[in-house]
Amino acid sequence: MARRRTPAPAAPTDCPCGLPARYADCCGRLHRGEAAAGSAEQLMRSRFSAFAVRDEPYLLRSWHPDTRPAAVDFDPSLRWERLEILGSAEGGPFHTEGTVEFRAHYLEGGRADALHEHSRFVRHRGEWVYLDGDADS
Ligand SMILES: [Zn+2]
Repeated sequence: MARRRTPAPAAPTDCPCGLPARYADCCGRLHRGEAAAGSAEQLMRSRFSAFAVRDEPYLLRSWHPDTRPAAVDFDPSLRWERLEILGSAEGGPFHTEGTVEFRAHYLEGGRADALHEHSRFVRHRGEWVYLDGDADS
């Protein structure tokens, strides 16, 4: 095929976020703009899935404008495998802020590793967005 672009991972059947659901019915709905995250944890899951499927527009629009980068650099040697939510504080329907602690497992050149981070989320114009995080891997 002549018009082939940089191969992105094929749309997965099982949602990368770890919930027992199909991608199309889970984070896919948020990525397509058909649903909004109801909690900071749900936004966290959808952003992990967006990294897994390399959905840059979704990552950028779910990023707070104050901390949002101009572009997302996807490392082609890195494959996001699995998300483990370790805990969360606030981030619910009646909150304006929330934190989620997680471990994101990935393969880098075939080697398994994980990123451990506390991420901060806030509401921006009513929607949950990612603000920042402190990572120690
Ligand atoms: Zn999902």
